[in-house]
Amino acid sequence: MGLADYIKKREIGKGSFGVVFLTECKHDRKRYVVKRIALERATTKEQRNAFQEAKLLSTLNHPNIVSHRESFISKDNAFLYIVMQYCEGGDLYTRLRQQAATGHLLPETQIMDWFVQIGLALQYLHDKNIMHRDLKTQNIFLTKKQVVKVGDLGIARVLDSEDDMATTVTGTPYYMSPELYARVPYNIKSDVWSFGCVMYEVATLKKAFNAKDYNALAFKVSKGQIQRLPSAYPDDMDTLFASMLAVEPDDRPTVKEILGSPYARKHMHRFV
Ligand code: ADP
Ligand code: MG
Repeated sequence: MGLADYIKKREIGKGSFGVVFLTECKHDRKRYVVKRIALERATTKEQRNAFQEAKLLSTLNHPNIVSHRESFISKDNAFLYIVMQYCEGGDLYTRLRQQAATGHLLPETQIMDWFVQIGLALQYLHDKNIMHRDLKTQNIFLTKKQVVKVGDLGIARVLDSEDDMATTVTGTPYYMSPELYARVPYNIKSDVWSFGCVMYEVATLKKAFNAKDYNALAFKVSKGQIQRLPSAYPDDMDTLFASMLAVEPDDRPTVKEILGSPYARKHMHRFV
């Protein structure tokens, strides 16, 4: 199949790389998201990231990772297209902003449902030695049925790729781990930190670490000090999320350990 098989409906996102469209497939009449990357305008690195995302996505198959349909390049080689599942529920960033506007915290079960699903997606990636490297609320999507889908694997990498050092500082600093600020190469535990930032934000409806500029943020992150979760939530949840935000990567649990914790297991039965 190719571009002619998809009817463009509207633009839903824009990145430095190009544009994200909502489309409808002429054959099955289902909606799909098409990411269009302008190859000529992109830097070599952006091109590599785009091809990387297409290639990686096509090898992945997990209920909590945005599923890939196909990728193709336009005849004139100007564009790379990545076709994937449309997540109607939008992203977690928007969902949390809406929640904050209500003035109410989310129920514990909702938080833990998301926690388990993001955890399962990450565990699947980590088992394949793939690091996401840009986990944040804007890259976590919801379907119509409120299933969580981790997406945007644009800068995901298989562990031990040679250029790790060169591409250490990526992603939004809000979710960036202390070791990355210190220019230590990205590792699997850096994803755990970002996951911890996401979960803390889900529970408090505020950024785990927030500051007005990069240096102030780097300082806060390097201290790793966070307040206890709101009293509505149990100590178990607070301890779990705090463990993911240990400043020292070695002190942070692996995703497998996190999901194996008794508290997480209490919420796992709804999914496995
Ligand atoms: P990038 O952050 O690299 O620009 P993303 O893959 O995160 O690219 O997509 C950019 C935006 O497009 C997202 O924030 C979201 O609003 C929208 N989007 C991307 N993929 C999907 C999807 N599968 N379903 C729904 N919306 C999506
Ligand atoms: Mg994104």
